Amino acid sequence: MQGIGFRPFIYKEALRLGLAGHVLNHSSGVTIEAEGEQEAIAGLIEAIKTSPPPFADIHSVEPQEIEPKGERTFEIIESRDMGTADTLISADIATCDECLRNICDQKNRRFEYPFTNCTNCGPRYTIIEGIPYDRPKTSMKSFKMCPECEAEYKNPLDRRYHAQPNCCPVCGPSLEVRGAKYEVQSAISDVIKYLSYGKIVAIKGLGGFHLAVDATNEGAVLRLRKRKMRDEKPFAVMMPDPETVRLYCELSHDEEKILTSPQRPIVLLRKKVRSPKSKVRNQKIAEAVAPNNCYLGVMLPYTPLHHLLFLRAKNEKQKTIALVMTSANISDEPICYKNDEAIERLKDIADYFLLHNRDIYIRTDDSITRVMNGRPLMIRRARGYTPQPIAIGPKYKAESRKYEILSVGAELKNTICLLKGGKAFISHHIGNLENSASYEAFEQAIDHLSKIFDIKPSIIAHDMHPEYFSTKWAFQIKSFHPQLIAVQHHHAHIASCMAENRIDGPVIGIALDGTGYGTDSNIWGGEILIADYKDFRRAGHFEYIPLPGGDAAIKNPWQVAVAYSVEALKCPSVGFIKDAIPALNGISDEKIGIVLQMIEKRVNTPLTSSCGRFFDAAASILGIRNHVNYEGQAALELEMLASRWKDKVQGPKTKIGPNLKDQRNEYYPFLINKNNLYITICYVDTIKAIIEDLKQGVEKGEIAYRFHNTIAAALTEAVLKVSSVSGIRNVALSGGCFQNILLSEKLKKSLEGVGFSVYTHSLVPPNDGGISLGQAAIARARVE
Ligand code: ZN
Ligand code: ZN
Ligand code: FE
Repeated sequence: MQGIGFRPFIYKEALRLGLAGHVLNHSSGVTIEAEGEQEAIAGLIEAIKTSPPPFADIHSVEPQEIEPKGERTFEIIESRDMGTADTLISADIATCDECLRNICDQKNRRFEYPFTNCTNCGPRYTIIEGIPYDRPKTSMKSFKMCPECEAEYKNPLDRRYHAQPNCCPVCGPSLEVRGAKYEVQSAISDVIKYLSYGKIVAIKGLGGFHLAVDATNEGAVLRLRKRKMRDEKPFAVMMPDPETVRLYCELSHDEEKILTSPQRPIVLLRKKVRSPKSKVRNQKIAEAVAPNNCYLGVMLPYTPLHHLLFLRAKNEKQKTIALVMTSANISDEPICYKNDEAIERLKDIADYFLLHNRDIYIRTDDSITRVMNGRPLMIRRARGYTPQPIAIGPKYKAESRKYEILSVGAELKNTICLLKGGKAFISHHIGNLENSASYEAFEQAIDHLSKIFDIKPSIIAHDMHPEYFSTKWAFQIKSFHPQLIAVQHHHAHIASCMAENRIDGPVIGIALDGTGYGTDSNIWGGEILIADYKDFRRAGHFEYIPLPGGDAAIKNPWQVAVAYSVEALKCPSVGFIKDAIPALNGISDEKIGIVLQMIEKRVNTPLTSSCGRFFDAAASILGIRNHVNYEGQAALELEMLASRWKDKVQGPKTKIGPNLKDQRNEYYPFLINKNNLYITICYVDTIKAIIEDLKQGVEKGEIAYRFHNTIAAALTEAVLKVSSVSGIRNVALSGGCFQNILLSEKLKKSLEGVGFSVYTHSLVPPNDGGISLGQAAIARARVE
């Protein structure tokens, strides 16, 4: 991969060991010819294996003996084919320790310089305009290196050798504060001052703008919510170091490892129940940062500018030790990344702007992760990870151009994917395509990525849903005549899980999510598929329920609660339902009456097997919420309620329930039916039992916990049935519901408890952000 300092590393090692020869990059890897003492050569191989540069991804080292040539020097040979598509472009990397030392060192010429970087860190993906990855093809082209920087750039022994964005205060980009007249020198101090007064500052970062506000200032955070038109969706917080994070959040060893990794994603961490006791830092994180949420999304500084903000705050003893750093946008729009655009779009939100003049060519949000079983679970894959390719399917090795594939993803949480050879390049998170600005970003991403990876797809894979904007885009292409391949949504989910785990089918795939277009035109979302890459068969699903109002019901979980309870209560009258489910008392009789009518007359009530809706129904019945402000909110809160109860009863360190046998009394009844085509899982009895438990005054947390157990138990039983016929023992879990760690862990344990091998996501999100990868893998299997 370019720009990660592999060749200079070899060069330095060769000099150290007294070896002659050369190192050369080419499209399939790196070739090193080394001539010298046997021990020295062994030392070089050892160094490659044990201490490569942090971003080298070494698949294998294959030594071979050749005739000595009598060479005297060691050289880095400029490769001839560096411009080809196989030259991988690195992701953006957080400031390394050495660069951090440079900016903290008063004697260093980069002291307090916010654009300091080197071969091991700094911007990459976000500043690339085209290939080859050289300075003229990046947004650094307008800055001419000064002689000192140029000398570093040309010296193979320097940490900044061939660091394309290399610069310094003399020759590089600079900061600017808008909103008042200020000296550039004091930009950072001023910004810290404004933040401590509770002002909202738009700060230009690596992949776009953040809106920053003091996370301990309740009023300021509320003001940001109001101006950003974001009701309850949690904000991410940046804290200076893991010690500070520990004041507010539980931080396990695995979580800390991901939090401090060079990718520096947002990690969702459990809030500490008690606020910090320390007298010096006795502020609390404002409740409005993540209201009703027992998790806090936290990240550490990842650019020199972030570090400088926190360092300055500390030096000046400002109280700011945690900043809300949320993507700068209005509700669903994509993140702002251009100066003029940001000033225009954010003028009613931000009080001040901290700008700089290094352009961003491609906007990239912060990545979001959780930790599951010690592994990161990607929730949103963007900065730090894109465009790192995912190597897929060992079975398919065709390098032919005719297999260059573009897949255009789903509608929500859209990503696109370009596939060539064995490598899948998944784009950064693009967003919700119903939003016109996001749709534009989608088109831009296709253009930009095809260009920087030099991929000209002849095949386009898309979702089966005819109304998705991504599908429509695929149908409208006029510039060439691609072969179109339609992929069922949940098949794509399962294929993405198989692809990232590099397993071949057939598997039993469990796809649980909110919505996906089914082959019978119903809304699927609680599916058991028998799948390989090429095809799938639906083996089972959650029993259909009528979804009153269709898509509108997604925002109103109470409507789904009514739909489920009509079956469960067998007496569909408004009074009876309200009697049984007190949580519906806030909804007018008239509204419930209309929904009942819709269900009875089957008007505007598409059928759905969605697991997301089942969660919504339970959340509404438990009185968690009848309306949601963002996608998946009800399910998330149900999970939190359940895990809080589990912590209270079992303590937070206890592992989640072992296997099915021990959980006999821990789940509600359900029914598994079988006709000659499918297994269906019917939860009417579950709902009935929940309503009964509520009446008995059982704690809601306990009910929520048992609810999770029920789904795990039902699916395990269903999978056993499917397996007994098909003989398949591999199970793949995918779909947005698997962002729910409680559910994922329970189901995984319970399936493993009866002998299945269970595969889950880590590299790509289980949600619709992973759909493009699955589509690409399926399209390739089909054309091959
Ligand atoms: Zn560095
Ligand atoms: Zn310079
Ligand atoms: Fe989905």
